[in-house]
Amino acid sequence: MRSPHLAAVPLATAPPPYLAQADECDLFAQAHAARLPLLLKGPTGCGKTRLVEHMAARLGRPLITVSGHDDLGAADLTGRHLIEGGDTRWVDGPLTRAVREGAIFYLDEVVEARKDITVVLHPLADDRRQLPLDRTGEQIAAAPGFMLVLSYNPGYQHLLKGLKPSTRQRFVALSLGYPSPVLEAQIVQSESGCPPEVALQLVRLAQALRRLTEHDLEETASTRLLVMAARLTQAGLPLARAAHVAVAEALTDDAPTLAALAEVLRAVL
Ligand code: ADP
Repeated sequence: MRSPHLAAVPLATAPPPYLAQADECDLFAQAHAARLPLLLKGPTGCGKTRLVEHMAARLGRPLITVSGHDDLGAADLTGRHLIEGGDTRWVDGPLTRAVREGAIFYLDEVVEARKDITVVLHPLADDRRQLPLDRTGEQIAAAPGFMLVLSYNPGYQHLLKGLKPSTRQRFVALSLGYPSPVLEAQIVQSESGCPPEVALQLVRLAQALRRLTEHDLEETASTRLLVMAARLTQAGLPLARAAHVAVAEALTDDAPTLAALAEVLRAVL
């Protein structure tokens, strides 16, 4: 069933294309309408960011994206006092801007960030929908349309780095995996402009690599890597070479592992 919340939003520009795996677009829109925050789980390169970009455009909301890293703390999200010519001026950070503007705020790889960010995320993620700014004493109520979206890759993080239950339980959670082979081939084709047979071969390769690498490597062949390889073929590189530089080399630096991946490439392409 299509969501009624997606019906009649006039778009300034066409949303970036997103081919849905299941009901994730409707679910996103319903979470937005219900003023609930969303947690997207899934391996790198499976389409999480594209889904958020697509849905922000369809819902007619501005999108503010921040990538999590180990030095990202609460002040990087909320803002800082800057000293200018002897004066001190408060400058909103990206989360504060999103809260004031009613934007969709997307924090990618949330588990990489410092733990103090939960202090600002929790009151925004529950019924309060408020951002406390300790340094200015302000309590900002989120404007209508604001939505908090976090993503993380449950596969590759350190056990100690998982999300705390008190954080997880504030979010609607959605798992995305790699798309089915038929859908993935459509994505590779439409994102790169390559012929259908090239897309199919790359998807077959991804499946073989995923079977092989699932347990051994932190990451395996993602849709993103297939799209990159397909784009290289469109630029004139032979398929096998494109798959080697865009897929195999991206997955490992270890010479014996790389040789094993190259073996799979030779067998499939
Ligand atoms: P993630 O955020 O999960 O790491 P991205 O959203 O950046 O992954 O996806 C990587 C690339 O793969 C995108 O830029 C796009 O080209 C392609 N892609 C993946 N899934 C889809 C999809 N369902 N529809 C369209 N493109 C997709």
